Amino acid sequence: MKDHSTDTSAWTARAAALQPSGKAFIDGRPVAAADGQSFDCINPATGQVIAKVAACGAEDVDRAVKAARRSFAAGSWSRCDPSERRKVLIRLADLIEGATEELALLESLDTGKLLRDALTLDIPGSAAVFRFFGEACDKLLDEVVPVGSRALATITREPVGVVGAVVPWNFPLKMAAWKCAPALAAGNSVILKPAEQSPLTALRLAELAAEAGIPDGVFNVLPGFGPEAGGPIGLHPGIDCVGFTGSTEIGKKFMIYAGQSNMKRVWLECGGKSAFVVFPDTKDLAAAAKAAAAGIFFNQGEVCSATSRLFVHRDVADEFTALLLEASQAYRPGNPLDLSSGMGAMISEEQTARVMGYVDKGRAEADLLTGGTRVLAETGGSFIAPTIFGNVDPKAVIATEEIFGPVLSVMSFATEAEVVAAANASIYGLGASVWTSDLDRAVRLSRAMQVGSVSVNAVDNVDLRTPFGGVKQSGNGRDLSLHAFEKYCDLKTTWIALQGEGA
Ligand code: NAD
Repeated sequence: MKDHSTDTSAWTARAAALQPSGKAFIDGRPVAAADGQSFDCINPATGQVIAKVAACGAEDVDRAVKAARRSFAAGSWSRCDPSERRKVLIRLADLIEGATEELALLESLDTGKLLRDALTLDIPGSAAVFRFFGEACDKLLDEVVPVGSRALATITREPVGVVGAVVPWNFPLKMAAWKCAPALAAGNSVILKPAEQSPLTALRLAELAAEAGIPDGVFNVLPGFGPEAGGPIGLHPGIDCVGFTGSTEIGKKFMIYAGQSNMKRVWLECGGKSAFVVFPDTKDLAAAAKAAAAGIFFNQGEVCSATSRLFVHRDVADEFTALLLEASQAYRPGNPLDLSSGMGAMISEEQTARVMGYVDKGRAEADLLTGGTRVLAETGGSFIAPTIFGNVDPKAVIATEEIFGPVLSVMSFATEAEVVAAANASIYGLGASVWTSDLDRAVRLSRAMQVGSVSVNAVDNVDLRTPFGGVKQSGNGRDLSLHAFEKYCDLKTTWIALQGEGA
């Protein structure tokens, strides 16, 4: 692979030599949890412990809030010339890029994801997010309202204060970047809680942020478990806003925490069950089948916007299913550090058991076309073969609940109206992919889909410049794009009555 070694044994040796920090990062320095507790961080591809990590709790959240509030009030970040923040965030992007191989290894060991993807997507993608929001922060203009000559009225953006960022394990550094980069760029102080399954790159990010020049207390990282570390972030009166990515179930908890405490703003990016719709006039069915396989098997299907429901028109259903089965061959699980592997390990034994529970349900309610088994048991890791069910009833459990694994439900349809109704019959509304060569139909479908993003003749087009997020129970906010600033800024109206000559 370009610029990176393809020697698996060399990567394995480098992995063995890594000494990841397991300490929390509060007020500019690494610290143990206040009560000294720690937990084992496990490589799900081998089942081996890779680090001991601080298990933070309410006392640590309180320490971090004090540091964040102090730094926010001091103003060296919150009130500085935004061009200073730009320089620091771009320096941080450069440092992340410079540490790509180390961060990619950490990410792969921590989550079981393919090192290849971490090297080419997760880490460069995270650096690009810091660069984008760093570049943007001194170019956003405020507003002057046309109220006549007797007053000057302005609308200005102000950072909200202290932002809590609570993120999941599927794209650990990227999800952290999606929250923290715009929040920091807007001048906030931030407390990041990575998922307990994948804290290592967030902890390294804290060190790089300090090296880049982010002042003490402005960026804090608290690893720990959901109820113990995430709960106190949701409930703390000193936190003004929470940016959350994770399950719909826990997203709802954050709304409750806000209601029980200080009514902090809560921005949620939650689960999904995205539809992939294939019409018979699709120009290149083989390309569509490859995209459908990528849409569900990329990152072991542990993707919020994974297109886990496939609707194919009955006229091309057989041909398309054959192409899909062929395309799924590219996703054979293997050692994540081997750059030729097709799919990595699942995040944990717990998640593997959950996904296999759905596979068992699927066997009872549909036809298993491929996969459906755990594989590579000899590694001690958690691997599942790419799994496709055919003849699925759109109301079946596997077609309605978020599985968050490499499991696809294939359904056929006859009319456009039928498929729109079926695609929208979901509690989720994150993404959709529509395949057709009829422009009118593409526009009609894009408008009819109740989702945050529609990709036409493509799958899951995520771009820094366009917002990402969902409707319905997929969430209430948007990450990425300049719109992300809106979540982490308040608007202030200032009305100055003018007197005297000319007024
Ligand atoms: P999760 O909801 O279990 O955990 C997410 C975060 O919340 C973790 O940091 C976790 O420690 C914390 N948490 C868990 N319980 C908590 C509690 N009681 N109080 C406070 N915090 C708590 O989700 P997950 O299993 O880590 O991730 C998978 C989910 O994330 C899927 O549902 C997926 O769709 C979703 N996701 C959504 C997006 C998006 O942009 N919409 C992106 C990636 C993942």
